[in-house]
Amino acid sequence: MKSPVPAKAVLLLDLKIQYATIKEDLMRAIERVLTSQYFILGPEVEGLEHEIASYCGCKYAVGVSSGTDAILASLMALGISNGDEVITTPFTFFATVGSVLRLGARVVFADIEQESFNIDPYQVEKAITPKTKAIIPVHLFGQSAEMGPLLEISAKYGLPLIEDAAQAIGAEYMGKRAGSFGLAGCFSFFPSKNLGAFGDAGMITTSDKSLADRIRIIRNHGSNPKYHHKLLGGNFRLDAIQAAVLRVKLKHLEEWTEMRRENAAYYTHRLHELGLTGEKIIPPPVVRERHVYNQYVLRAKNRDALREFLGSRGVGTEIYYPKAIHLQDCVIEGRYKEGDFPISEKASDEVLALPIYPELSSEDKDYVVSMIKEFYER
Ligand SMILES: *Cc1c(COP(=O)(O)O)cnc(C)c1O
Repeated sequence: MKSPVPAKAVLLLDLKIQYATIKEDLMRAIERVLTSQYFILGPEVEGLEHEIASYCGCKYAVGVSSGTDAILASLMALGISNGDEVITTPFTFFATVGSVLRLGARVVFADIEQESFNIDPYQVEKAITPKTKAIIPVHLFGQSAEMGPLLEISAKYGLPLIEDAAQAIGAEYMGKRAGSFGLAGCFSFFPSKNLGAFGDAGMITTSDKSLADRIRIIRNHGSNPKYHHKLLGGNFRLDAIQAAVLRVKLKHLEEWTEMRRENAAYYTHRLHELGLTGEKIIPPPVVRERHVYNQYVLRAKNRDALREFLGSRGVGTEIYYPKAIHLQDCVIEGRYKEGDFPISEKASDEVLALPIYPELSSEDKDYVVSMIKEFYER
């Protein structure tokens, strides 16, 4: 039997709707940069740095070329290299781990908490050795990691925390914002993040002046003064056009974040109401407010079949992430095997992300929920 043409399509992410609402402001901002012909770093980047620092509750922010480079440059500024160990989660986007490995350092994994998908502080403490040089908690999907205990561990062992806040701009924990807890916070402005540029872009937040100064030098080949290189750096600079776009969008971020939160609350409420939660669906538990829902990730019974069914009905979904990082070919190197981090591996088998972007209509959300219901009633 041929599958029917879906009555409706709900994309996982549709950036065109948002673009249409702020097009004029964006054009003006881009035009300003074109008129200035000042394309790399400069006043737009400095403006954005001040605005992001203030939004995150930090003293400094340093614009860089991507979220990946934010992590890489932070680790370079700490002098992480060969023989050092860095503790992080195996349930994250590859960039968290790749940045450590590219410096020749060793990644030591600590499994996640069952509920929040974030690194488990208890497992972190167990993984510390005399070679440990830093800890990278990831605020996955837009919910803060358990920063209280992690900060205690950081203080107790004198280990810096580098927050991977790529998915969590505006996320809070006990009223403080992501990126303001550790020594540094790393943000991504990849187009699909809550604050998305028109290309690659990133930012590092910190309240440590000497770290901010070091990263500013490192992002420009370690050059200070010009053509004198005491530090090894790279080209991790942020473009003025991206900064100008982000400054327009930042003004709307709170409103968009609240829309994401409302969409999430609606899904969770409807899934409960329809009796789909428990056996079949576990909606994302909110363990630590404020969750900013870069993704709405639930656990689903029969996940792969559900995903295929939703796809056939025009509903876009994604699996973040289908394979834990310790099991990736370029990481495993005979050091890890299946079963080493069972909570992460189980999450990989069960998670499914639904469309959650701010501009979803109530019809879109109802359609998504009714298709989930249809799947489990077949
Ligand atoms: C997106 C992302 C990154 C990398 O950001 P880019 O800007 O794409 O380089 C790093 N870590 C996490 C958790 C991410 O989601």
